[in-house]
Amino acid sequence: MVKAKTHKKPKETEKSEINAKIGLEVHGYIDTKEKLFCTCRNFHDMKLIKPNTNICPICTGAPGSKPMLPNSSAVSKILQIGLMLNCKPNILPKKLIFQRKHYSWPDMPHGYQKTISGAYSIPVAENGNFLGIRIREVHLEEDPAAWNPETGNIDYNRAGVPLVEIVTEPDFTSPEQVEHWLKQLVLTLSYIKALNKDAGIKADVNVNIKGTVRTEIKNVNSITEIVKSIVSEARRHQKEKPITQETRRWNSETNKTELMRTKEEAADYRFIPDPDLPVIKIDKKRVEEIKKNLPESPQIKLEKIIKSHKINPRDAEVLTSNLELVEFFEKVIEKIDPKIVLPWIKTELLGVLNYNKKTLDDKDIEIKPEHVIELLELVINNKITPLKAKDILRRFIPKSFSPGSEAKQSEKITDEKQLLKIIKEIIKKEKKTADDYKKGNKKSFNFLMGEVMKATNKSADFQIVRKILERELG
Ligand SMILES: [Zn+2]
Repeated sequence: MVKAKTHKKPKETEKSEINAKIGLEVHGYIDTKEKLFCTCRNFHDMKLIKPNTNICPICTGAPGSKPMLPNSSAVSKILQIGLMLNCKPNILPKKLIFQRKHYSWPDMPHGYQKTISGAYSIPVAENGNFLGIRIREVHLEEDPAAWNPETGNIDYNRAGVPLVEIVTEPDFTSPEQVEHWLKQLVLTLSYIKALNKDAGIKADVNVNIKGTVRTEIKNVNSITEIVKSIVSEARRHQKEKPITQETRRWNSETNKTELMRTKEEAADYRFIPDPDLPVIKIDKKRVEEIKKNLPESPQIKLEKIIKSHKINPRDAEVLTSNLELVEFFEKVIEKIDPKIVLPWIKTELLGVLNYNKKTLDDKDIEIKPEHVIELLELVINNKITPLKAKDILRRFIPKSFSPGSEAKQSEKITDEKQLLKIIKEIIKKEKKTADDYKKGNKKSFNFLMGEVMKATNKSADFQIVRKILERELG
């Protein structure tokens, strides 16, 4: 009898033993110029401005104040998000109604939050699917103020900022799956500039395992904490087998959830339509217009880059990590072989941008693909050295230029006689280094190469210089 091969059990990571049923309500800050119901600014990072300096009677809930019409660009962004997640937008004859979600809490001066959600409401978009996870609905609401329970201070700077809430069905089965999906979600929404990228995301997380009743963990900040809270809560379910529905909070210091309330004490939000706000009507034309202008998703771009242009997945991932970067790459490869373009975009251009702490979509950065095409053609046609091209590329920040005239002044030097003369001078000048090389110090060679390149304004042909230098040094 042939003995069956024994397979080594793969080493399990801490997380992967968890098989749970997980659903998410993801909250993100919508990137708009103004708040949802007033003209106060929607700053990228509210922590950078002094508390209560970005406020008005509307967003602080002053008695008698009435909201302005809902910010139309926030509604458009919600529609974009819905469409990117393959949801169906609710268009006319359906009407969207802002409801008052009542609760008393120091962060909510009106005593209610304005939201297009809750009992009997119609969300902006619903019934979607993103990477195999069903999306129940996508809706819009306002953010409350920031309340510090320790000091009792309230900061209204972010009160009234538009939030998106993305509600999934409980389709996730592991923390790793949630982590991957959330990263893809954030990347996808970055392609439409939907979210304030400095503000991060928050989520309410539903978790249960086979035979237990689900727990809702409220308001978990950041993807890392969301994943940790799922691991911790699933473990608690394995151990304690809870059979009553609970709402819990996440304590990131103890790495444990804590009881907030049971179902019997469930909050009753007494939803009613807000009489101060008009119904929102979305017509087919508006949706079609938005659809027409949506970019391809990062997942489609990634597949295209790998398959059509034969770029390896890891490099493709770097390129697709930013919409402007991948679109830039796509424009340059219309003229030049992708294999040649790849290191110039992925390593050189990205390196220069990172060094300057910039991205292609920064408002003060203006780099044109045609200038990079021109630059690479100069290299390909042996007009300038790659070293010289890198030099010019560095000066494309903040604004690129046609490199043609500059290339003329520093045309590649391939004339051996001319180079020999320069090299002889350098060997004479750097006699000690040259002697060191002859004695076996290999590093000295690179130094001498560098000196030749410096003396020729980076225009000497590298291969020829190497050849002559080797010959001259014996
Ligand atoms: Zn305001």
